[in-house]
Amino acid sequence: MKPRIFLSYPHLGGGEMKWIEEAFKESWVVPLGPNVDEFEARLEKYLGANNVVALSAGTAALHLGLVMLGVEAGDEVICQSFTFSASANPVKYQGAKPIFVDSESDTWNMSPDALESAIIDRKKITGKYPKAIIPVHLYGMPSKMNEILAISKKYNIRVLEDAAEALGSEYYGKKCGTLGTYGALSFNGNKIITTSGGGALICPDKSSADRVLFYATQARESRPYYYHEVVGYNYRLSNISAGIGCGQMDVINEHVERRREIHNLYSELLKDIPQVSLKENPSDSFKSNFWLSCIIIDPSSGVTPEEARQKMNAENIETRWLWRPMHMQPIYKDAPYYGGDVAESLFNKGLCLPSGSTMTDADVERVVSVLKEILKK
Ligand SMILES: *Cc1c(COP(=O)(O)O)cnc(C)c1O
Repeated sequence: MKPRIFLSYPHLGGGEMKWIEEAFKESWVVPLGPNVDEFEARLEKYLGANNVVALSAGTAALHLGLVMLGVEAGDEVICQSFTFSASANPVKYQGAKPIFVDSESDTWNMSPDALESAIIDRKKITGKYPKAIIPVHLYGMPSKMNEILAISKKYNIRVLEDAAEALGSEYYGKKCGTLGTYGALSFNGNKIITTSGGGALICPDKSSADRVLFYATQARESRPYYYHEVVGYNYRLSNISAGIGCGQMDVINEHVERRREIHNLYSELLKDIPQVSLKENPSDSFKSNFWLSCIIIDPSSGVTPEEARQKMNAENIETRWLWRPMHMQPIYKDAPYYGGDVAESLFNKGLCLPSGSTMTDADVERVVSVLKEILKK
């Protein structure tokens, strides 16, 4: 059996241990310290943005983003349906109600039309506007942020970008995560960079970043005894994990570039398979990091995504279904949904191909040749 090709394998640069050893030498084995400060500084430089707060997970970043936008019990929050559950669950943590909207077919992300219909209809039904909008840059592809931000401005509803999969992606020359009021990043094991687990919230200014830090460290007021005026969280990144992050920032450019190369190679090799279409940037203004390269398999091929997944797996190649939309999830079966069947139809026809930056060209060629065999049936 040939070695397994994973969907997205952690890719270490080699420099990570130095930071961890430093932390051990100084006993900085706590959720603050020099590695956390350095990791934030490196992220800020990379993103071209200030006020980045390192947190324990991307999910924690999304949660604190909602807290900062004042989302409370009884509020409604509009969220892209086609995403991972962690985009929407923090809405529930706040006791608020998620309103799901469909995707559009250029980016597979939030449809600006469905977004505006949802806003207008919710106002009609509840008498007030939703409190926040969560677009997701799925698989690294930037959402149509110009349109979404114009709607956000028109109705005065702020945007929390879920950029968990989009570290390094660019939209009109700006990094994803820096376009909305807040932006959430993830450094989980299979994302663009890993800190084993971790995330960050990109904040609009110093005072909001300070407030996020306050919430992330149990919301302790500055008094000599423990005194709390609001409910806090234990969401700060550990100094050990941040050390891994510092090392990862040394190699981030190469790793993002490698994902794009892998995508380009797929693009070239899949060209002559008419039953398969690879998700591409819709124009030069969109620059995906291609966290995962995804395909749509034409149903006329007679091959379903599940059949392809199983056959690839038998050849020791890991692939994955596209995200099952939130409005099709049992936990969200009662949530209102606006739009058509774009997300659902992508889910029914799509597949994520192995895309990790550890992959060789030969790995990509192996994936494509197995895929070709499967489609020959
Ligand atoms: C991974 C991911 C998250 C959550 O990030 P964690 O660091 O795993 O908590 C949120 N949204 C999307 C779209 C993700 O892919």
